[in-house]
Amino acid sequence: MNNVNFDLLDLVRLQLIEQNIVRKINEINSLKKSEKLTELETAFNLANKEFEGLEKEYLQIEYERKKIDDRISLQSEKIKKIEEKLFSGTITSSKELVNYQEEMNALKQNNDELENREIELMIKIDDFKPKIEQTEQKKDKFLQEIKLLKDDIGARIKVVEDKLKLLKERRSLILKKIPKDMLVKYEELRAKKAGVAVTVMKNGFCTVCNMEIPVIDADKIRDPDKIYKCPMCGRMLIIHSSGIEEIKSEIETL
Ligand SMILES: [Zn+2]
Repeated sequence: MNNVNFDLLDLVRLQLIEQNIVRKINEINSLKKSEKLTELETAFNLANKEFEGLEKEYLQIEYERKKIDDRISLQSEKIKKIEEKLFSGTITSSKELVNYQEEMNALKQNNDELENREIELMIKIDDFKPKIEQTEQKKDKFLQEIKLLKDDIGARIKVVEDKLKLLKERRSLILKKIPKDMLVKYEELRAKKAGVAVTVMKNGFCTVCNMEIPVIDADKIRDPDKIYKCPMCGRMLIIHSSGIEEIKSEIETL
């Protein structure tokens, strides 16, 4: 026989290990679905959207200001040229003189208007800057918090994953010890009975379905080295022993 090392408690071990594996997988999944992280990501997206909107608006104003500024420079150049002409003494006709003066005045007036407009825009820009900075800081703060939380979650997942790896290793060692036919039965029951195939009779009760085992059946359940069947829930039934408690507390703390 291949399974010389097998003892009935291996079935209990297998079941406890598999239950712990399920718990670990659930734990990893719930760590991955962190509500706090979702909240932070939503807050970050909002702040980022606000930041991008403000920045876009700011760039538009700055673009407009630059355009006005360029026009002012261009017109100033023109004014300078006309002034040079006026003082060069080359203009002889009074009509020409009046024309130049009128053109210059119009340019000066237009530049005054443009300068006023530019000042308005500069005030707007000054108002904008602290708003943009604030939003950027808020956005960066959320990003930083997200990073910290992700690192923390990652570290916690790693701890659980390491434990999961150990549990799986122990599971495959135990699987090798359990006789094939027994394993087939175990899997069958596990699938049918909500993931729990093995139960223990303690003080006349089935510890899984919590039903009292009828005396007539309980009387026949005496051999600790034998597998019985719970007459109430149909699971594989083993008689309770202190060894089971030890196994339980050992595997559950993994
Ligand atoms: Zn039962």
